Amino acid sequence: MKSIRLVEFGSSLQWEEKQDPEPKDSEVLLEVISCGVCHSDLHLRDGYYKIGGEEKLFVKDRGVKLPLTPGHEVVGKVLKVGSKVRSVSIGETKLVYPWIGCGTCEECESGNPQLCSAPKSLGIYQDGGYSDRILVPDRKWLLDIYNLSPEAACSYACAGLTAYGALKKALPLKKMDSLVIIGAGGLGMFASQLVPLLTDAKVIFLDIDGSRLEKLQELGFYTVLSSHPDPIGEVKNISGPLGVSAVIDFVNNSATSSLGFSLLKKNGTLIGVGLFGGELKIPTPILSLRSLTIRGSYTGSPGELKELLLLVSKNKIRLVPVEIRSFQEANSALNDLANGKILGRVVLSGK
Ligand SMILES: [Zn+2]
Ligand SMILES: [Zn+2]
Repeated sequence: MKSIRLVEFGSSLQWEEKQDPEPKDSEVLLEVISCGVCHSDLHLRDGYYKIGGEEKLFVKDRGVKLPLTPGHEVVGKVLKVGSKVRSVSIGETKLVYPWIGCGTCEECESGNPQLCSAPKSLGIYQDGGYSDRILVPDRKWLLDIYNLSPEAACSYACAGLTAYGALKKALPLKKMDSLVIIGAGGLGMFASQLVPLLTDAKVIFLDIDGSRLEKLQELGFYTVLSSHPDPIGEVKNISGPLGVSAVIDFVNNSATSSLGFSLLKKNGTLIGVGLFGGELKIPTPILSLRSLTIRGSYTGSPGELKELLLLVSKNKIRLVPVEIRSFQEANSALNDLANGKILGRVVLSGK
């Protein structure tokens, strides 16, 4: 197998070639067809997340060990299976659920391995899909992609699932309710694709980039420029003076989370998703007097990913733009992502 691996934090990925692993017991070896490039791959390469001010959260302190093959948005073709694997055939194309856990804790046993406190996520704690082969620890982590192409399907494992997991936490909403979505980048694009299938509430997108908002306006969404002198007033002109029922913050830095908090009406929920870094200062009496909820959302469960794949394959939806590059271009794809040059998703493809 040929993999492009992270050997040192802060450095470019390097090619490595070794023998294909032999799947044992419940393991499945896949030939990687496509692998999405995600913002969290950048944090992994840098070796840290910013957590407000100059403070950093180092990925090595969270258990990430090098060398590592990144890539957690993987579609592949089944090449070989271990002796205990049933119900999957050689040659089948599958999406890998990457947010796997220890398998024995309460969260893992209740179907939420993404919340396991001893995570074993593929492409983060174990080798992922920046490779021509990926070894998946159990057949149960493989999902059908129905009529979706591998290039369109792979990003649902992270970006799509993250948007869906956050939207589900904002639901149910009534027709008269308003939902604010902060951030019209990659996650916002997935949310714009999914939200009309999930609710008929008013949806208001906020972003600093006017050109992104124009595209969303064309699709029939309300939009507010976050650099407007009075973004709260602008949102309330749409939602009504009391504010909005839910805010999903895909940026989740100090400025956006504080803005999101100010937009909530009584009993409203702020859902923090993005990992751009920052901190939120809240007036504690307001939290209580207005009966507000602040919560986080991290990817989604295998059950949610299955629901999501059914939802997108059964409905005629506008697919998120995908730019396909070869695995040789992994480093330049990461650099372009870091420099904000990517609209939609970049997917590495072996084709
Ligand atoms: Zn667990
Ligand atoms: Zn990701």
